[in-house]
Amino acid sequence: MITTLLFLGNNAEQSSLIANLTTSEAFFLIIIIAVVGMIVQARLRSVFNKYSNVGLSNGMTGAEIAAKMLRDHNIHDVKITQTGGMLTDHYNPATKTVNLSEGVFSSRSIAAAAVACHECGHAIQHAEGYAPLRLRSSLVPIVNFSSMMAQWVIILGLIMMSISGSSLVCWIGVGMIAMSALFSIVTLPVEYNASNRALEWLESSRTLRDDEMDGARISLRWAARTYLVAALSAIASLLYYITLINRRN
Ligand SMILES: [Zn+2]
Repeated sequence: MITTLLFLGNNAEQSSLIANLTTSEAFFLIIIIAVVGMIVQARLRSVFNKYSNVGLSNGMTGAEIAAKMLRDHNIHDVKITQTGGMLTDHYNPATKTVNLSEGVFSSRSIAAAAVACHECGHAIQHAEGYAPLRLRSSLVPIVNFSSMMAQWVIILGLIMMSISGSSLVCWIGVGMIAMSALFSIVTLPVEYNASNRALEWLESSRTLRDDEMDGARISLRWAARTYLVAALSAIASLLYYITLINRRN
């Protein structure tokens, strides 16, 4: 069924594949992706634990490396702050802050360097007006609203379909779920590009040694896979609702 997704590029094939996909198959797909997601999350945590315990030869903290990367890119209006939790690191474009978790901010490890530079990658994307980041930011309010309302619109749509036979409201609900799927797809280039910027700078600035670069690459690769799984999961949910409404129709 994974091949089902791979064929989605072809429009003619797409409509027939979705029409042939049953609700239970789509549900099974969601379960498989959820299991893969748990495996990827577990692997990410173990990779981060491993490289959080490998010290850096330069002895710099995550925050110090982030500051150096921003300086090297002539960015002087972004603050680096510490935030609670594990793997909660993020860049906030509204406040222009690189927020690093406790385990990254003051840690002198390969994982900390990789994460800190990834978040700086987002700050550089913001400064350069990187198009996928702009698109992603513009989708945030729409997705916040539609993900909150979609379930209710679909329930209302199913009730109306049973009364009037019209599936219009159901499809509006599916459209709202499609926005979440679109958001998670747009997130992919943003995340992969931030990691690429991080790795390129870590290497070109000689901040990490070659053997340390391998650990940084592996850490960011597993972090990126969580976004890939999230996008596949959002597409599977969308397929599930399409099959559900097609069946009721
Ligand atoms: Zn990111």
